Amino acid sequence: VHAENFGGRMPTVLITGANRGLGLEFARQYADDGWSVHACCRNPETAEALNGVAAGAAADFAIHALDVTDGAAIQSLAATLSGQPVDLLLNNAGVMEDRSMTFGHLDYGQWEDVLRINLLAPARIAEAFADNVAASERKLMVMISSGLGSLDENQEGGRLAPSGLYFYRTSKAAVNMMTRNLAHDLKERGITAVVISPGHVRTDMGGPTARLDPAESITGVLNVIAGLTISDSGKFLFYDGNQHAW
Ligand code: NDP
Repeated sequence: VHAENFGGRMPTVLITGANRGLGLEFARQYADDGWSVHACCRNPETAEALNGVAAGAAADFAIHALDVTDGAAIQSLAATLSGQPVDLLLNNAGVMEDRSMTFGHLDYGQWEDVLRINLLAPARIAEAFADNVAASERKLMVMISSGLGSLDENQEGGRLAPSGLYFYRTSKAAVNMMTRNLAHDLKERGITAVVISPGHVRTDMGGPTARLDPAESITGVLNVIAGLTISDSGKFLFYDGNQHAW
């Protein structure tokens, strides 16, 4: 369904945080659809599930070591992939803070870590790979954000989690704004940049009682991505294709 054939060449995706959770499911589904996959993770040698997906992939599948907070590693991967089209840059890696923290006891070091991973890394990766995306057919940048980054939907603060999720929520609200800037700045290069919320999904982060399993969520996200055009650039979309409240 998603495996459009661009002039005989299958599209290419680069995914961060591909060793578990939603990133692993993205890698699996794009590999199944015949895309070429650059799957990035911190520790390829211990990424057993991802190595299993790579072994079963029919098309090109490369696993790259990438801690998204390591600027030099991002530049080095960009140099390795220089000149190669990347149809879809998928910023998926993300973290949430320790939820037991309460207002009055916020750990600012941890806040900086969350912002480095959830906000600064997607920006740096977008800068590093913009030429690869611009050289592709689809020209897509997708940031995996969250409904918890929605200002409109924050009706509960610390009632949702004792911590109020100050770190996660601010990081996702900020990546939403960052993507809106990208959409404007990259439009003339034909690049579509959007934010997508995957819904609440049963992963290590989402927890065992979340509503969706990874396959269901990511099937939805792949459908949304397959339908993206430049007129969608700057939107905040839900995994079912609906627009998300900011
Ligand atoms: P998981 O906690 O299951 O996985 C997180 C992934 O991010 C892991 O692959 C992890 O790698 C990677 N990661 C964390 N820090 C870094 C880093 N510094 N460098 C490289 N990779 C890193 O989370 P999910 O799969 O659930 O989340 C994926 C994305 O979806 C995140 O952006 C999250 O915010 C978002 N999201 C998830 C929701 C859910 O309900 N699950 C809801 C809304 C949004 P490692 O194994 O090395 O730690």
